[in-house]
Amino acid sequence: MSKRLIVAIDGPAGAGKSTLARRVAERIGAVYIDTGAMYRAIALWAIRQGIPCDDHHRLESLTNHARIEFLPGHGRIALNGEDVSSAIRTPEVATAASQVAAISGVRKALVTIQREIATHASVVMEGRDIGSVVFPDADIKIYLDASTDIRARRRAAELAEKQIQVDFNDLRQQIEERDSRDRNRAASPLLQAADATYLDSSNLSPEDVEEEILRIIRSKTSNGKVLVS
Ligand code: C5P
Repeated sequence: MSKRLIVAIDGPAGAGKSTLARRVAERIGAVYIDTGAMYRAIALWAIRQGIPCDDHHRLESLTNHARIEFLPGHGRIALNGEDVSSAIRTPEVATAASQVAAISGVRKALVTIQREIATHASVVMEGRDIGSVVFPDADIKIYLDASTDIRARRRAAELAEKQIQVDFNDLRQQIEERDSRDRNRAASPLLQAADATYLDSSNLSPEDVEEEILRIIRSKTSNGKVLVS
């Protein structure tokens, strides 16, 4: 018998959620959903339209009009028909995304899309509020963490790969500010759900973390094999 499975992976910026969520989704045959990319897509559109990040009314309306689609292959995302997968990866968009994400009307619209995706597929969904708000009944909840220094180093390496040059100290500071905004906002703040497993990836390889998450999935499902119905 096949059962749809929801794996929620939350944690701060640069903890390694995207890499792990993608790998685990591939291993169990589930759909990988990067919810941060959705907030980033809204932020990118707002920047392009010149809408300030504190204009709640226009940002909520923008979100309700946004057409967000996940494209096949490595979590690519389209906004209104345009592939914005690379455009959303700049530090400027990251900062704007965390400002836009504090607006409850924006969150409400995106959470509706996130829940809808999981009605017809098994998912590995990563973000900040997946285990706490989007899917409080998720089958598996992981809270992935790492030290700020390591997270900043990983993010710098990712950006360097994309030919985006940044000053390391500026990047570290941006990550700290973003985490603080995400943790302290009123609407769905970043937190570890009470029933989530805490994993610190600071001194672990992605392979080790992947195996640990798969072990947790196996221990919580009958045979560890998930069939997408
Ligand atoms: O995961 P990523 O760093 O791409 O997310 C960008 C921003 O989107 C985060 O800093 C956070 O403010 C917001 N976000 C959120 N809830 C989620 C996913 C991302 O608030 N589920």
